[in-house]
Amino acid sequence: AIPPVASTEGAATPAAIAPAPDNAPLVATPPAVSGEPVIAREARVVGDGSRTRFVMDLTGPSAVSVFTLDEPYRVVVDLPEVHFDLAADAGKAGKGLVSAFRYGLISAGKSRIVLDATGPVSVDKAFVLPADKGQPARLVVDLVKSTRTAFLDTLRISRDRDRATAGHEREAVPGPAPNDGKLRIVLDPGHGGIDSGAIAKSGMLEKTIVLAFAQTLKEKLEANSRYEVLMTRSDDTFVTLRGRVQFARSKHADLFISIHADSFSGSDIRGATVYTLSERASDQMAASIAESENKSDILAGVDVPEDTNEVSDILIDLARRETKNFAVVFARNMIKELKPAVRLFKRAHQQAGFMVLKAPDVPSALVELGYLSNPDDEKLLTSPEWRDKTAVAITRAIDAYFRNRVANMAASEALTSGVGEP
Ligand code: ZN
Repeated sequence: AIPPVASTEGAATPAAIAPAPDNAPLVATPPAVSGEPVIAREARVVGDGSRTRFVMDLTGPSAVSVFTLDEPYRVVVDLPEVHFDLAADAGKAGKGLVSAFRYGLISAGKSRIVLDATGPVSVDKAFVLPADKGQPARLVVDLVKSTRTAFLDTLRISRDRDRATAGHEREAVPGPAPNDGKLRIVLDPGHGGIDSGAIAKSGMLEKTIVLAFAQTLKEKLEANSRYEVLMTRSDDTFVTLRGRVQFARSKHADLFISIHADSFSGSDIRGATVYTLSERASDQMAASIAESENKSDILAGVDVPEDTNEVSDILIDLARRETKNFAVVFARNMIKELKPAVRLFKRAHQQAGFMVLKAPDVPSALVELGYLSNPDDEKLLTSPEWRDKTAVAITRAIDAYFRNRVANMAASEALTSGVGEP
């Protein structure tokens, strides 16, 4: 049952690309590179629950490689850098075996499309059809319904192969800290690239808002020559959660601040909120914000190593109590400074199991600047005056935190001994 597609998108597999066996990485031979960046103009999904075809119109030829992931079932399509010029709602709805899809930069020079599958599928074909007879070049991915057993067999074979060829990435042990007397602050604008984060009604993207905010905050902080300010990303690329934590650790950060502006069901939720790490979430809202943040790697089609799939316990235990306490002290400082300047959420300090806050040796906090689901917050989040005022307040909080390190030490010890617990 071939899906009802235009005849030019029919079963015509280019002769040069043999249908790949189930377990092979479906790599088409890269066609001649023209130098012009390839632009994706339109994407569509056709077919039914037994056989589904994904098609994307391209302005030129491109290499393509495809692999699958489970939990949840996904098909990941990697391409060299492609500029996506698609309708704002592209990918929100699917058809047949594809429930939705996302696209964007996954790393420098590399683009990715992630198809969410409704169940176990196998990739029958994946290729780029050259432009022909007035038709643009097209990326075509054919999926057929599979069984969980067959899907997992394919996945196991491809993981074994990756392990054999690349070896597992070892986490680099940070070298000795540079002895230059600088205080290192890592700013972590959330999301990026293929992961847009929350999307406001106006179409404004969280990833863009938080990057702009982080850049403003960096400028303010850099006025202090004692600070070295580093960013986990400074453009629209994707960084894994683990990559963000590793970056802070490798730089011997003294403080890590992840910056967000998420959505939350219920448009009455608004105001800045500071989150720190805890194995137990303060409430349902904190738990669900952390859960959605922790999905970033899944959205981006990253094969998360099993040992980090465990959201709770082991890693959190590793996070030293002292580090966590410093984070709590910092969060309280931040709320004190933010209070006169910006509107705070009524429970301004919240705790939950955010993966990005799990560096055992770097005090880490996550700030929700506001909630894009709230129209008033959205207005603020996109206002340069608000951005400036908030960045000044956070800078003051960071100044106070470092100025009072000795006092913080005492406050942290008080927390450890159970005194001063909220
Ligand atoms: Zn976010």
